[in-house]
Amino acid sequence: MKRLTIAAPAKINLILNVLGTRTDGYHELETIMHKIDLIDIIHVEATSEGITVESNSGLIPTGVDNLAYQAAALLMEYNGIKAGVNIFIEKNIPVGAGLAGGSSDAAAVLTALNRVFQLKLPDDRLQEMGAAVGSDVPFCLGSETALARGRGELLTPLDRGPKLDLLLVMPDFQVSTAEVYRAYKIKNNYQPADTAAFIKFWQSGDIINIANCISNDLETVSIPKHNEINHIKTDLRQAGAVNSLMSGSGPAVFGIFADQKTAINALDIMQKLYKRVYQVTSYYRE
Ligand code: ATP
Repeated sequence: MKRLTIAAPAKINLILNVLGTRTDGYHELETIMHKIDLIDIIHVEATSEGITVESNSGLIPTGVDNLAYQAAALLMEYNGIKAGVNIFIEKNIPVGAGLAGGSSDAAAVLTALNRVFQLKLPDDRLQEMGAAVGSDVPFCLGSETALARGRGELLTPLDRGPKLDLLLVMPDFQVSTAEVYRAYKIKNNYQPADTAAFIKFWQSGDIINIANCISNDLETVSIPKHNEINHIKTDLRQAGAVNSLMSGSGPAVFGIFADQKTAINALDIMQKLYKRVYQVTSYYRE
């Protein structure tokens, strides 16, 4: 096999608890991550030498700064591969959105090159390399929904839950994940959102209660700075969402709807108010 095309889905955080700071400078997290069907398409092709990254998007780096490049370089170095690879990224996931677009591209490259070079690396080996590229990459390599702890790399997969009907709105600005975490302050008497209650509702497929459990501590940094995030959240609820939340470090915001019909109605309303609105659902492979 010389070339392969693979999907790289975005994720949203249904819960994101920031439990504290760590000695390594990262934050201790407890988060429920969920893949959605907003997808980058990654084409990889084995070549005689070197790594090149190209994209239809001018918004991402094409050289060593691209996470897909870093994933390829790591995998090829660890496995003594002398050949090269061309990577083309068809970018659909908004950049710098809190949707893990870069991490998902990196995960897709690890999976694709494992096949293209017939390495037969086990999942835990790919997970290790993924964690070295970025904290969200291990999740992107695994199950569609997971509880993640640590920096986000300690994963407990969750069973397949209900298919969520979502609208996603991307404001006109990006935020830096590192800056959001730097600005985060833990409050006295901090109470993390209840992941156990969420998991119970997830297992029973109770969409209304799932929506009522969603929570993101990083909103306390991003909303005071960017009031638009709050406007989007309110507009989504007024358009019919059961609840709405910023994803990850933002600024993308999603709304959870009781059913597809309500989501489609709301799409019409939200498209009149915002430029980048996406109707998406959960990403389930088959
Ligand atoms: P996360 O939620 O994992 O922090 P994000 O969704 O906030 O990620 P990304 O879209 O992954 O953010 O992009 C963050 C930065 O990473 C961008 O500003 C971009 O310069 C850089 N980057 C490197 N490689 C990629 C890639 N393949 N796709 C998108 N961004 C990339």
